[in-house]
Amino acid sequence: MSYTQRIVAELHERYADQPEFIQAADEVLTSIAPAVDANPAYEEAGLLERLVEPERVVMFRVPWVDDEGKCQVNRGYRVEFNSAIGPYKGGLRFNPTVTLGMLKFLGFEQIFKNSLTTLPMGGGKGGSDFDPKGKSNNEIMRFCQSFMTELTRHIGPNTDVPAGDLGVGGREIGYMFGQFKRLRNEWTGVLTGKGLSFGGSLARTEATGYGLVYFVDEYLKCHNDSFEGKTVVVHGSGNVAIYAIQKVSQLGGKVIAASDTKGWVEDPEGIDYKVLEDIYNKKRSGNDRGVSLAMYVDARPAATWHAEDGRGVWQLPCDIALPCARENTLLLEDAQALVANGCKIVGEGANMPTTTDATNYLIENGVAFMPGKAANAGGVATSGLEMAQNAEHLSWSFDEVDSKLENIMRGIYHACDDAATEYGFEGNYMVGANIAGFKKVADAMMAQGI
Ligand code: GLU
Repeated sequence: MSYTQRIVAELHERYADQPEFIQAADEVLTSIAPAVDANPAYEEAGLLERLVEPERVVMFRVPWVDDEGKCQVNRGYRVEFNSAIGPYKGGLRFNPTVTLGMLKFLGFEQIFKNSLTTLPMGGGKGGSDFDPKGKSNNEIMRFCQSFMTELTRHIGPNTDVPAGDLGVGGREIGYMFGQFKRLRNEWTGVLTGKGLSFGGSLARTEATGYGLVYFVDEYLKCHNDSFEGKTVVVHGSGNVAIYAIQKVSQLGGKVIAASDTKGWVEDPEGIDYKVLEDIYNKKRSGNDRGVSLAMYVDARPAATWHAEDGRGVWQLPCDIALPCARENTLLLEDAQALVANGCKIVGEGANMPTTTDATNYLIENGVAFMPGKAANAGGVATSGLEMAQNAEHLSWSFDEVDSKLENIMRGIYHACDDAATEYGFEGNYMVGANIAGFKKVADAMMAQGI
């Protein structure tokens, strides 16, 4: 049994109650095996044992008072996974599905994603099982303030810099930033994704979606192709999906479908990202009851609404599929439908939306599969650019940030492609992303001692 196989087997035994973490760690460790097992120094230094164990996990009570005056209690977390190459960096997720295992999976992925950006950021993730759906603006504010009351002791611009993720956008970051500042009497770039009037970066909102499309575009370019005339389907209609759709249409492609938790919409004339943006803003205004993607057809009569599982989008014939919602939303049968209908590229805008068997099926059937940790790194990369602007007390223009983002994403594509080729997995961007991301972190951990 090789070193990596032994650690993978131990993971399955020790973390049976953390299925998402096992899924992510198994995938990463199995694919970096060629790079790890060729270097016995890694085993001597217990590198993998250290890599799969977070440096620190904070778990805390988040009490808050709802609009009826009743006390509610949620659980908050921050997983500070790895700081070998920079301060912990990663989003906060507010969603009832949040568990420690879920955040360990996301934090683990973040280590490699952040390494791929080439910026000095370690990996972390946090959040709460709080459900923002249906909450009033005041309830959101009180929750965010209570959450930050505890989190404030664990973070700092050179220690740990959280940002948004599912359920945490500009509004929530604003409330948390306000609370941090109140408690610490310190104005500092301790969160990213901030509002533009208080240290946020232009193009941060658009960054994950744009970055995904730049990444796929670099692949197309290297294969003498482009988005021109391509049909694209998107799963999701949130922040990542909206700006991916905008960028696809700017580059000449047409997105014909998008989805939310209530269903999916098909627009043969091409999804209008502006309509999605309006619906998204309404949903997040604090009065979200009754707002859904179904409203899209009011603005675009040629479109049709399907009140069924959003995974219906995977049944449409397309050239490119972009899962931009959340984990495990592209299953084996969806992958089979995509391949049967001629899809050639799957680019993950979300974190781990494609299940392991679906990923394997896509790769085996010649689909170019772009894993989230590379393809959706544009969000955190631009967070890194926000940290840089805060540190130098400057703000850069939209075009300056956007062009840095574009260079980073095109660079990540080549880093993945080169690493895959070097280890004999040409065209396998999942293996390439894992190896390229791992190598920098491994070098840093080895250099810093046990
Ligand atoms: N939540 C985003 C991600 O999954 C962004 C994290 C950040 O900007 O720190 O990468």
